[in-house]
Amino acid sequence: SLSSRLQNVFSKLKGKGKVSDADVNEAMREVRLALLEADVNFKVVKDFIAKVKEQAIGQEVEKSFTPGMVIINIVNKELTELMGGTQSKLAKANKPPTVIMMVGLQGAGKTTTSGKLAKLLQKSNHKPLLVACDIYRPAAIKQLQVLGEQINAPVFSLGDQASPVEIAKQGLQHAKENHNDYVIIDTAGRLHIDEALMDELKQIHQLVKPDEVLLVVDSMTGQDAVNVAQSFHEQLELTGVVLTKLDGDTRGGAALSVKAVTGQPIKFAAMGEKIDSLEPFYPDRMASRILGMGDMLSLIEKAQMNIDADKAAEMERKMRTAEFTFDDFLEQMAQVRNLGPIDQLMDMLPGMGKVKGLKDMKIDEKQIGRVEAIVRSMTKEEKTKPEILNHSRRKRVAAGSGTSVAEVNRLIKQFDDMRKMMKQFSSMMGPKGLKGGKK
Ligand code: GDP
Ligand code: MG
Repeated sequence: SLSSRLQNVFSKLKGKGKVSDADVNEAMREVRLALLEADVNFKVVKDFIAKVKEQAIGQEVEKSFTPGMVIINIVNKELTELMGGTQSKLAKANKPPTVIMMVGLQGAGKTTTSGKLAKLLQKSNHKPLLVACDIYRPAAIKQLQVLGEQINAPVFSLGDQASPVEIAKQGLQHAKENHNDYVIIDTAGRLHIDEALMDELKQIHQLVKPDEVLLVVDSMTGQDAVNVAQSFHEQLELTGVVLTKLDGDTRGGAALSVKAVTGQPIKFAAMGEKIDSLEPFYPDRMASRILGMGDMLSLIEKAQMNIDADKAAEMERKMRTAEFTFDDFLEQMAQVRNLGPIDQLMDMLPGMGKVKGLKDMKIDEKQIGRVEAIVRSMTKEEKTKPEILNHSRRKRVAAGSGTSVAEVNRLIKQFDDMRKMMKQFSSMMGPKGLKGGKK
């Protein structure tokens, strides 16, 4: 994958005390190849490499004690810029309702994303109305109604005999009468862009004057996705993009090219079929994800929505400062367990890809119980200073927890790895930590 390829390039640089221009050139050649293979637009890659090189071959790198890290930081910064720099918020109408029109090819995820977006808006106490304007695809209306029922959001439909323009018009009226502050219009898509469809979308556009025209793009389709985005933009004046299916085996190219090619920001990212798998898109987090730094901020935000805010803040601080004890380890496991799909969450943790055993361990619930037993058998001092756990202490812990010394050893090793990763991560992000790096 793109992540693992880039991590390879950087692991060669990381340990180096001095980085020559030749090293930088070699690294950039590999980064270039990795990006092209990930299906990033050719011109985008070219500009990107030029920008990174310009900074990397400067003095800053030579003077630094950790030139490898400096280069990674430059790449991280430029990747973030490439995807828009900062998070792009949803527009809001001066006078409600805010009208959002969802457009895109068939199968991109418009209908599913409409439901997800409604759910996201509900979470911040809004009252969205879904409007079913896809009268062509069999069962498209039903699909939206099912989603609406699932989240208890109203769905406006006139069946499949009324024209989409009429449905949009009456839907908007319905929202005004019922005090819905957001209207999400789910439109039809085709397998390819065609004139009839564009005309219909333009008519709806003229009538409802949307505050947002969001193009829903399947990130698995790579370069094609970007071409589609360009043609939609020419016809409809998009205001933003939603990338779907980022949970899949995507090569990452669409995320990296779409903003540069269309000028339109990615506003949301969908990473699953479930109704709550839509998130605001944060370029900086996506960049760290691509670079294999993990996406701690996403994890923390998810945690904040689902668990205790104070605990989450404390967890974030500890991760940032790499002050991490066995108690935190347990606590974190307990919280992570409450958050849902463990696989997905583990992928967000920094360095988790490299800490092999940890990932396997966490997925197995029975193992979690054993880990808990081991940690509970440690003294307070042992939990905060794992380095004092010598052989006799380990033996005592194993006996106390009904496990074996081998298991205790394994856990301590995993914990150490994780701590190391966190230290590395926080030094990479600079003394101010993640918060300081965020714009
Ligand atoms: P539409 O034709 O654009 O309205 O697309 P749909 O909303 O009907 O979605 C097409 C298919 O993609 C459905 O099977 C969805 O469940 C699936 N899908 C949509 N978004 C995602 C996503 O983020 N991840 C995954 N894995 N599947 C998705
Ligand atoms: Mg649909």
